[in-house]
Amino acid sequence: MWHLENTYHDQLPAQFYSNQSPTPVEIPEMVYFNKELAKELHLDKVLADVDFTKNILSGKAILDQTNPIAQAYAGHQFGHFNMLGDGRAVLLGEHVLNEQRFDIQLKGSGETKFSRRGDGRATLYSMLREYLMSEAMHSLGISTTRSLAVVKTGEPVYREQVSDGAVLTRVAKSHIRVGTFEYARVFSEPSHLEIFTKYVMKRHFPNLLAAENYALELLKAVMNLQMDLLVDWMRVGFIHGVMNTDNMSISGETIDYGPCAFMNTYDSNTVYSSIDHQGRYAFGNQPAIAHWNLSVLANALLPLIDKNQEAAVELAKEVLNPFREEFIKRHDAMMHRKLGIVHTNQEDGDLIKDLFTLLTKHKVDYTNFFISLKDPTILLGSSLIADEQFINWQKQWELAHQRNSDQEKGSLLMSQNNPRVIPRNHLVEEALNYAAGGNFEKFDTLIKILSDPYSEGNTLQVVPSEFDLNYQTFCGT
Ligand code: AMP
Ligand code: MG
Repeated sequence: MWHLENTYHDQLPAQFYSNQSPTPVEIPEMVYFNKELAKELHLDKVLADVDFTKNILSGKAILDQTNPIAQAYAGHQFGHFNMLGDGRAVLLGEHVLNEQRFDIQLKGSGETKFSRRGDGRATLYSMLREYLMSEAMHSLGISTTRSLAVVKTGEPVYREQVSDGAVLTRVAKSHIRVGTFEYARVFSEPSHLEIFTKYVMKRHFPNLLAAENYALELLKAVMNLQMDLLVDWMRVGFIHGVMNTDNMSISGETIDYGPCAFMNTYDSNTVYSSIDHQGRYAFGNQPAIAHWNLSVLANALLPLIDKNQEAAVELAKEVLNPFREEFIKRHDAMMHRKLGIVHTNQEDGDLIKDLFTLLTKHKVDYTNFFISLKDPTILLGSSLIADEQFINWQKQWELAHQRNSDQEKGSLLMSQNNPRVIPRNHLVEEALNYAAGGNFEKFDTLIKILSDPYSEGNTLQVVPSEFDLNYQTFCGT
């Protein structure tokens, strides 16, 4: 059963959204449907009729009780501030289940007030890409928006070439972004910042609303969630690709799968996005960018943190300054889990730092390296194993292991934190190209393998070395 509400529409001033129905499409065709997610949301029965569902999830038909909106937001894109908003998406409503609220959003649903020069549409290829990547992240145990369905619109989309259009149904804790706070601060009325912030806190951090300085508590809470999220990205080699402030969710979910990709060969400078010329969003830069984005959030919240601007800045800095140190702490703890080290010890020295140096030097596959700790045959043929420094590193790692009071726990930590499979770029592209052409066999197989990434049997270890050298991803608008 649908339990759709729209508190964003009902409780916020009109400046925060525009009433917007999806633009109906001619001949919708369901191409991918996430049965498991539908079940989790208790929507499996109501969505069982494909003919009905394809109309609802393409925007051809609207459910009676919905009040669809396009949300207003702003954001810093590659460091530059812009007015943005849902230019090709509408929020159908918030599906309420067991006191949890899930935004149900159609992406690629047609023009809105915020479309600027865009056509409001999306290609089948890019919506399938978001489906695959977001569901892979979910299976990796990483906080993310989900994908419920991809419906082909039956209408062409004009990009560099003509493509099939599609609508993705995205499910999220909310679509509230750092950029929505920037919008509230800059483009709405002064009194709206408080109304909006309290709305967000009631929705995501209700326990913090009573705090003396609720805005400062919000900043801390968002920072906390983002640190954990970034640690998780770094754990599996995920490169978001476009960490603009409008693509950073307040609820701590990975959002907006545009040019994202997974790193194969370890190199902190890895960039795949065709538009990221400066490497602003390179793999190793992501934590620093998250920190920068949080400072943008802090800036938007200043009037609520303290009426005196200087005092507000000081308070915000006190929250933000420990980011680096705290992030390194959490990141190292994560790396220890990947290495199966239960208790860290002074004698471990620079185990982590040295490992990164060695992986970079010998161009080792990040995912495979950690699997090789249990199965050394994987590294056969790599120059790494002949390197004196690595041989020493191994000895040190083994000592660290022997210090584990509980051997099984170390092994378990490794299995739980080292995926055996990630979405390998060459396989993602192959599957998507076939699927966009109507053949879903490879896409199905890949989705299936990626749904169980820590399982011992699974493996996608062979990576064609030349593939990534020229691999580029696109924003996919
Ligand atoms: P993104 O790069 O997906 O984070 O989008 C950045 C901004 O561009 C958002 O305001 C989007 O709504 C808008 N946008 C992206 N693609 C389109 C499109 N095809 N039509 C209209 N607006 C778009
Ligand atoms: Mg975006």
